[in-house]
Amino acid sequence: MNQPLPPHSAPSATRRRHFLRTAVAGTVLLSPALTRSAAADLGGAFSRVVARQMKVDAGAQVVAEPARRTPVAAEVDVLVVGGGPTGVGAALAAASEGAKTLLLERNAMLSGMWTAGLLNPFFDPRKGWLVDRLIEKLQQQGAWVRKGMDVFDVEMMKFVLERLMAEAGVEYWYNCPFTEPILQGERVRGVIVESKSGREALLAQVVIDCTGDGDVGARAGVPFERGRKSDGLCQPLTLMFGISGYEGFRGLPADRLTTHEFFKDLSKVIDEQRLPIQLPYGPQRSGTPFLIALPGKAVAVVQATHVYRVDATNVREMSRATAAARRQVHEVFLPAMRRIPGLENLRLSQTAPQIGVREARRLEGRYRLELDDMLQARRFGDAVTSVGFHVDLHELDPKDSTPKLPPFPPGVTRHTISKRDIPHPRCLLPKTLEGLLWAGRCISGSHEAHSAYRVTGTCMAMGQAAGLAAATAVRRKTTPSELDGAELHALLRARGAQFLPRGLRAAT
Ligand SMILES: Cc1cc2nc3c(=O)[nH]c(=O)nc-3n(C[C@H](O)[C@H](O)[C@H](O)COP(=O)(O)OP(=O)(O)OC[C@H]3O[C@@H](n4cnc5c(N)ncnc54)[C@H](O)[C@@H]3O)c2cc1C
Repeated sequence: MNQPLPPHSAPSATRRRHFLRTAVAGTVLLSPALTRSAAADLGGAFSRVVARQMKVDAGAQVVAEPARRTPVAAEVDVLVVGGGPTGVGAALAAASEGAKTLLLERNAMLSGMWTAGLLNPFFDPRKGWLVDRLIEKLQQQGAWVRKGMDVFDVEMMKFVLERLMAEAGVEYWYNCPFTEPILQGERVRGVIVESKSGREALLAQVVIDCTGDGDVGARAGVPFERGRKSDGLCQPLTLMFGISGYEGFRGLPADRLTTHEFFKDLSKVIDEQRLPIQLPYGPQRSGTPFLIALPGKAVAVVQATHVYRVDATNVREMSRATAAARRQVHEVFLPAMRRIPGLENLRLSQTAPQIGVREARRLEGRYRLELDDMLQARRFGDAVTSVGFHVDLHELDPKDSTPKLPPFPPGVTRHTISKRDIPHPRCLLPKTLEGLLWAGRCISGSHEAHSAYRVTGTCMAMGQAAGLAAATAVRRKTTPSELDGAELHALLRARGAQFLPRGLRAAT
């Protein structure tokens, strides 16, 4: 049985403000934008927001907004923006080091692609420290299965993470998208958010951008790149979907994690039926996970849809991509899958709440991780983690014949690269700004290197390193950029973070 949920702990300044607002409003939590007098003047039956006047310049197609004073809703040591695998690692690490920590998440659940993206399996999990703690908690709930690949129960992931946050003392705000950084000269002092609670300012000693897309860094003016160097093309997007009524097929057990056979069967149906779809991986990659059975009986998630040439930071393109992928699920994949013996009765349980973005902005940091670092198996004394996953570039466009990767040295393949130690020194720090760190798939690296370090175990490990760096800087009254990287590496090891074995060549 689950333990009773600990009370949701809050940084004290925030808790006080919440209490004040609740006290003013009685049982209703009023937004700071709602004035007490406005509510009182209306006899308590109605509330009214004091609206702002704006000037519309229709000719120039702009709206002039008046200057404004925004209430400070919280002041914390470490503010984590984005609650995906990276953000939960960062927040748990910062709070467990004693920092007053607040995490902002635009969805109403933690863990990003793990939950809102319906993703599985958990790649590159052997990272130690907080990654191990999460896995242990999932195992205790029977929500983690290790059979060649590591799969987890998506619903239990949401719940376990909320409990871990509560135990560590992290406050998290759901449905709270980041709007704008608060910049003072060369220092990031916090962020502005706009939510149902109105427009609010949040102050912090250190902000960690874990949005995946590098939203905070980009809005703070950090240069960024995206996609392939030659033309900016990014990897395609995928809307995962869940199925039930899956009992295995071809006599294979239902808990088979991924099926080479499934890819072949689906390809055959698509060819026979002349369906307007190209399977994502191409013949040379048919062993890639595709239909992933989850812990428990008769449920699986499917990674099949691909939408190409999308800018994941453009809301209109994202809306069209989501609808296009959902159409692929209903009109192509489900009918095709139901033609495979053993899958005739399968049902769609859901399409993921959020389409999966493999690649968006990569922020410019103090070091750019290159494919060559992996090919040369470079080691760095200030590594914050290692990458245990291979180079995994999906087709950028099925019609594009440009080679995805440069030729590798003899004897090296994109798979053998995964056996090398690949650290991320200085990839998490802006060149000039202070008070800001980032981690996850938006770190400073090349398009090709990114395809290996973007998996979730690596991202959570980067997050835990960023959280530790931020909390250590706050405790020492210094900035993350002033921390010695080799010392941070040692602090991580002391907490049980795992790196690949020593003995490989050191970086010059
Ligand atoms: C289709 C697909 C399949 C994949 N398969 C695997 C796999 O099998 N195994 C594996 O390990 N990895 C896989 N990956 C890679 C992995 O999922 C991502 O690279 C990883 O989740 C990145 O972690 P992150 O925390 O940096 O970003 P995300 O997981 O994207 O999390 C970012 C979080 O920030 C929040 N956020 C974003 N912007 C804002 C904002 N402005 N304000 C507030 N919150 C915000 C988001 O809601 C989200 O919760 C896959 C990726 C895709 C797209």
